[in-house]
Amino acid sequence: GNAHYLEQQQRRESSARTYPRKLPLALTEAHGMTVKDADGKTYYDCLAGAGTLALGHNHPVVVEAMQEVLASGLPLHTLDLTTPVKEQFVDELFASLPPEFASRARIQFCGPSGADAVEAAVKLVKTATGRRTMMSFHGGYHGMTSGALSLTGNLGPKREVSGLMPDVHFLPYPYAYRCPFGEGGEDSHRLSSRYIERLLDDPESGILPPAGIILEAVQGEGGVIPAPEAWLKEIRRITRERGIPMIVDEVQAGVGRTGRMWAFEHAGIVPDVLIISKAVGGSLPLSVVVYDESLDTWQPGAHAGTFRGNQMAMAAGAAALRYIREEGVVEHAAKMGGKLLGALCEVQQKTGCIGEVRGRGLMVGAEIVNKAAGADALGSYPAYPELAKTIQRQCFDRGLILELGGRHGSVVRFLPPLIITEEQIEAITGIFLEAVA
Ligand code: PMP
Repeated sequence: GNAHYLEQQQRRESSARTYPRKLPLALTEAHGMTVKDADGKTYYDCLAGAGTLALGHNHPVVVEAMQEVLASGLPLHTLDLTTPVKEQFVDELFASLPPEFASRARIQFCGPSGADAVEAAVKLVKTATGRRTMMSFHGGYHGMTSGALSLTGNLGPKREVSGLMPDVHFLPYPYAYRCPFGEGGEDSHRLSSRYIERLLDDPESGILPPAGIILEAVQGEGGVIPAPEAWLKEIRRITRERGIPMIVDEVQAGVGRTGRMWAFEHAGIVPDVLIISKAVGGSLPLSVVVYDESLDTWQPGAHAGTFRGNQMAMAAGAAALRYIREEGVVEHAAKMGGKLLGALCEVQQKTGCIGEVRGRGLMVGAEIVNKAAGADALGSYPAYPELAKTIQRQCFDRGLILELGGRHGSVVRFLPPLIITEEQIEAITGIFLEAVA
């Protein structure tokens, strides 16, 4: 049962392991929205590979695509040499991008993880601009490798690691519930964009023109914070006017998660550089950077790596992208996201510890707060991470897997597969209500 696996894991795996501490189970079976553990208990999976499983576990279309490759005699490993599978994947991916971006796009295949693509994006813009500094945002999450960690806003994972990439300047993200300016709330996005523009234009700020600005259109690990469309538009204007590449990290928010294929599309903008991973591999490891051809100035061999474009992941990813396009999965995600948000707002009204429910599409969060401690000048209450952990555990015991996020770990995050049904939303929000109550 679970106890055996967990004991072995605890004895042999590194002490850096995270999920098993909060979700003590061994997975033995998975299908769609649910997983089964070694004791035979079934759970709704609202973590779904940290947002990777757009079509849920073991979707038949994805499984078939992988079986086809295995039966075909196509090579499984090709470095960055091309194959019919790779060509199909790129066709599908480019077809999913706004035409004005796709028509000028170049693609770089990276290692298996999102962080690999972040590393490549940084090298790309440094090479193209000849500059050496970067700008990133408070609460932003970009990965755990040294470069990506340098760009990550949360100090927690960085504190013990000295010597990260220097010259990263952090900017205030428009987080209305806890406005970084201490006042302004709904105005946080105007304060943020105005501040950034001043900072860039005032030589006395001491800020060098950066090689790039990297951001998430909806912060995920940072606590599910959707950036207002007006702010994204402003950042696009400010960066374009100053020749600063705008890098949008859609490792988590991309591939339909927010109710649009790409989260930047909500604002009607296109980035210069787009970082994609997680769901794009159809549940297998794959990451890419897609960028404007004007930035394609690096030399042959400037970015290499043995594993770039795993054939199985490209086959799975192409099948998932095609299914998403043909079956209206993004529209479904938008509709289900609205229902989930609505249902969680009801839980907020019926209970006393949810400060804010927010999200875009099926990237939704509920911020757990301590109302007894009183509100601050913005009308928001202190984060309550201990209670968030208790709620997570209460959900787990009732068969619902959820993860926490946010600077204090006080935001309960819902990242269900995009194929979630209305009945499943009722079921998970019912469990959540019981757990919170
Ligand atoms: N960027 C974002 C926005 C992410 O959410 C993550 C992972 N949660 C990463 C980058 C890093 O991806 P990986 O864990 O695959 O390295």
